[in-house]
Amino acid sequence: MPIHNSRHHRKPRSLGGQTIPENISSVDIKKHQAWHTLFNNMEAPLICKMLNRIWIDPSYTFICVRKDEYEDGESISDLEMKYYFNLYKKRR
Ligand SMILES: [Zn+2]
Repeated sequence: MPIHNSRHHRKPRSLGGQTIPENISSVDIKKHQAWHTLFNNMEAPLICKMLNRIWIDPSYTFICVRKDEYEDGESISDLEMKYYFNLYKKRR
């Protein structure tokens, strides 16, 4: 069972992330070290580009969208529903 004994700044301090509860995740220390080994303090869009370029099955794409840039205030679940609906239509 993992021990969540390390605190991760979701938005890195080096990029202006604050030490406030909303920006802190409690994580297993080995996973925390692995995260920073892979991604250092990169921002989410750059991590997505790297995952897509190097690690992800080329028939998929990893998408990163800023919450405040959703069209007309759509929620993640609205975007997911639209995505799966379009996927369903393509496969028919
Ligand atoms: Zn961290």
